[in-house]
Amino acid sequence: MTDRQRLITVPVPLGERAYDILVGRGLIGSAGARIAALGARAAAIVTDEHVGPLYASALTGALEAQGLRTTLVVLPPGEATKSYASLERVCDAVLEARIERGDLVVALGGGVIGDLAGFAAAVVRRGVRFVQVPTTLLSQVDSSVGGKTGINSRHGKNLVGAFHQPSLVLADTALLDTLPAREMRAGYAEVAKYGLIDDARFFAWCEANWQGIFAGGPERDEAVAQSCRAKAAVVVRDEHETGDRALLNLGHTFGHALEKITAYDSARLVHGEGVAIGLALAFRFSAFLGLCPPGDAERVEAHLTAAGLPTRLSQVPGGCGTVDELLAAMAQDKKVKGGALTFILARGIGRSFIAPGIEAGKVRAFLDSEIG
Ligand code: NAD
Ligand code: MG
Repeated sequence: MTDRQRLITVPVPLGERAYDILVGRGLIGSAGARIAALGARAAAIVTDEHVGPLYASALTGALEAQGLRTTLVVLPPGEATKSYASLERVCDAVLEARIERGDLVVALGGGVIGDLAGFAAAVVRRGVRFVQVPTTLLSQVDSSVGGKTGINSRHGKNLVGAFHQPSLVLADTALLDTLPAREMRAGYAEVAKYGLIDDARFFAWCEANWQGIFAGGPERDEAVAQSCRAKAAVVVRDEHETGDRALLNLGHTFGHALEKITAYDSARLVHGEGVAIGLALAFRFSAFLGLCPPGDAERVEAHLTAAGLPTRLSQVPGGCGTVDELLAAMAQDKKVKGGALTFILARGIGRSFIAPGIEAGKVRAFLDSEIG
């Protein structure tokens, strides 16, 4: 089959900021025409040292074949690249490349590159257009959708940024063939999350089809597209995160606490692994509170375990800290109002809801039962 036959289009209907997410195997080959159709004359491609050698020449060639002038900016891989220093480098490179308002910044990489390049595009010349070519599962199903861009500050992750919607997202699922297995699993935690939030049928489909997603079959394209549809639906309802976009944080209150406790050391825990443990904890906590059938919590755990993800605090390499440390890490999270904690809990698979005002005592009792 050609990529055209297998192409899935997910529209993100945001009025004058509307754009399409295209999902398909081998899309990068036709990226030139699709990006050229946006009417730019030049593109600055931002990538990292892992992704650049694999895919930058294909993308550059595709764009140049359409008559676009290209410039390549290659940054070191890793979270540390979401910094003021890299932002300066990207902005200066974009200006040096004489990228005008009608031109494009193209982010070719995972969430780190997407967030950084997107933010540079938001601020350079008070905003130029940008295209996301996400190359990790996490960025294809999560970070490239929704328009949140930014960098980290010494005060915390993602604290400096802007909402800036891309003009186009090209999710070429073949690019994931080179992704390290651990990164693939981490992204998969976010895929499963969409089913757990509000789509029990999708979760059941994942239980039956996850192996095809990992193996790169047509299930992968379907899972990426369905995840983008789910995120886009939430983003369209709540573009600037004032209301139910918070549901996307299912599993993240616990997950962020674990990332903090493991000092954001990716050798110990990557974000998706924290999310996997967080999803399992959110369902067990919901069951502990009598909100959710225990069988649903067991199903969540069984599926994440089957996909090779951790689900227990005891699986945090180097330890998850004490209950007090976990509570302190959660209290620092931005989802805290007036001392009480806001959790995303569930009445069952696909039935999550925002639960503000959860008393710390309940959380403590639950964590005591988990740590044992
Ligand atoms: P990442 O960008 O660091 O990529 C993970 C690793 O995989 C890197 O080493 C990268 O070089 C490598 N890589 C990427 N694509 C590859 C490929 N096709 N083949 C081989 N190696 C490849 O990490 P990520 O998980 O994609 O993104 C994490 C970032 O996303 C975090 O900074 C997080 O804050 C951000 N994020 C943003 C949003 C948002 O809404 N903007 C949402 C979720 C996460
Ligand atoms: Mg996440």
